[in-house]
Amino acid sequence: MLERTTTDVLILGSGGAGLFAALHAHQANPDLSITIASKGLLGKCGCTRMVQGGYNVALNPGDSIERHFMDTIEGGKWLPNQNMAWTLVSKAVERVQELENEVGCFFDRNPDGTLHGKAFAGQTFDRTVHKGDLTGIEIINRLMEQVWARPIQRLEEHRAVALIPTVDRQALAGVLLIDMRSGAFRYVAAKAVLLATGGGPTMYRYHTPSGDKSMDGLAMALRLGLPLRDMEMVQFHPTGLLAGPDTRMTGTVLEEGLRGAGGHLINGVGERFMQARDPRAERATRDFVSRCIYEEMRAGRTTPHGGVYIKMGHLGPDQVAKQFKGMVERCADCGFDLAAGLVEVVPTAHYLMGGVVCEVDTATELAGLFVAGEDAGGAHGANRLGGNGVANSTVFGAIAGDTMAKWIARNPAGRSPDAGVLRFELARAQHPFTRPRADLNQLRERLLDVMWDNVGVIRDAAGLQRGMSTIDELERELLASGLADGERPFNLTWHDWLNLRSLIEVSKAIVAAALKRENSRGAHFREDFPREGDLASSTFTVVRQHDAGLCIAAEPVEFTIVRPGESLLGQAPP
Ligand SMILES: Cc1cc2nc3c(=O)[nH]c(=O)nc-3n(C[C@H](O)[C@H](O)[C@H](O)COP(=O)(O)OP(=O)(O)OC[C@H]3O[C@@H](n4cnc5c(N)ncnc54)[C@H](O)[C@@H]3O)c2cc1C
Repeated sequence: MLERTTTDVLILGSGGAGLFAALHAHQANPDLSITIASKGLLGKCGCTRMVQGGYNVALNPGDSIERHFMDTIEGGKWLPNQNMAWTLVSKAVERVQELENEVGCFFDRNPDGTLHGKAFAGQTFDRTVHKGDLTGIEIINRLMEQVWARPIQRLEEHRAVALIPTVDRQALAGVLLIDMRSGAFRYVAAKAVLLATGGGPTMYRYHTPSGDKSMDGLAMALRLGLPLRDMEMVQFHPTGLLAGPDTRMTGTVLEEGLRGAGGHLINGVGERFMQARDPRAERATRDFVSRCIYEEMRAGRTTPHGGVYIKMGHLGPDQVAKQFKGMVERCADCGFDLAAGLVEVVPTAHYLMGGVVCEVDTATELAGLFVAGEDAGGAHGANRLGGNGVANSTVFGAIAGDTMAKWIARNPAGRSPDAGVLRFELARAQHPFTRPRADLNQLRERLLDVMWDNVGVIRDAAGLQRGMSTIDELERELLASGLADGERPFNLTWHDWLNLRSLIEVSKAIVAAALKRENSRGAHFREDFPREGDLASSTFTVVRQHDAGLCIAAEPVEFTIVRPGESLLGQAPP
């Protein structure tokens, strides 16, 4: 059974990117039919809701868009698409004003009424606007209310499984989804589709993103032959909570503001180890702090669960409890006293800088398909600054909504899907029902380990090759594995199987890109190629999937606004 529906705009994902896109498309043309399809419940899923730290925006007199831009480019080790980075930092100002004045968010303020900006690592100005340490809940709840108040259709607990092109493969015709509640398939024909499923590197032993994220969007894009850039760039957040293997809280992030406020990192033998490694100590960038922690772990100077400690008590327990209420409660749930004691932490996979290659207006090379948020590549290069993630999803989500409305005005006709591809994808999604039952969890556990051990914080060629061959083996085993239960409604094992398949496919793209980059930039550190290489001749990786497998290229970075060695500070904007 295949239910068929049509809409003008179909948005996959209801995070910051998806919800902003819906609101902007509706504002641009209220006559458009707009549908949001999301794997979870509106407002309750994805990572935007999980944003703790805040939103980077240059608002204060001592700051400037140019300064935010330079921090983004230097943080990204000169790999960002500079036009995207410029759009990110300049439009963030408009988006924060929209969030406050139109969407209804309240952010914390200074005594003089201006928005408070907190310190985040790797930035030259305290520009991270926030609501305590639960900023994402404020943003996503208010966006959700605005979406509810408009005639925007919702397909909640609907999982996209395939992007379906036209017969000539020149455009996208629609999307195949599974209604997770009934298990039925639904084909939604759309004039414009936004991919906003939010990436999310959940294939690592320790990871932070929400459980509904399994790289489905990137896996679907790969299968369609679309180019993905910077896939080797997986950001590890230095301070994931480490509370043992039996709790899902292990891996969840303890926000950067802790280090920003003056928290200390202490190894298992009681030494504060960051001061000797970087003048910024704990406030050094995420990639560097993660590597330093990983080195302590490799040297065996670890805590009972195998990580290091974060210590905040010297800042005053009452002050810490007041400033980081959410974090203190989370740690207490796991038996740690963040305000006055020591909390075990470990680097945790947090964000994928890589994503689908797109234009600044979010268009991809396939007509009718747009991409925004963490699914899109280019804005961050080799590193994402803390606070630039939610800025990225809201800025480019809004642009996507505007762009799709204009695009539909120019391309008003619907398109027919390639029936052969649709049949193939229906069979593909049902593959596990045709195979004998197997233990999926052990496959998943092996994937988490191989990615952490071989494709993690510190890499080398031998480890990456080992990783690739293990992942190939896992893929073969997965394809031979089936489900015990043939029921379709809310069959979560079916969705675990599909999650694992997406994670395996995207993991292979990460390994291929990591093998290709024979230098160390930002989040990607090769022990066998520790130098960053010549910045002026920087390249970024591009992976595509062909029938024969993954094809990987290196393309030159275009320094459209500023060249290595130059700075925009003190100059007029471009
Ligand atoms: C714990 C944590 C803390 C963070 N803190 C910060 C911070 O302080 N500052 C900051 O800037 N950034 C932060 N980030 C990063 C930030 O959350 C993300 O960069 C940003 O929210 C991503 O927005 P998005 O709209 O692209 O994706 P998301 O908000 O993750 O939304 C993705 C959506 O896609 C849906 N989806 C997934 N797969 C499918 C599918 N197959 N079909 C249909 N729907 C699908 C999901 O259900 C979800 O609705 C944090 C991330 C985490 C995990």
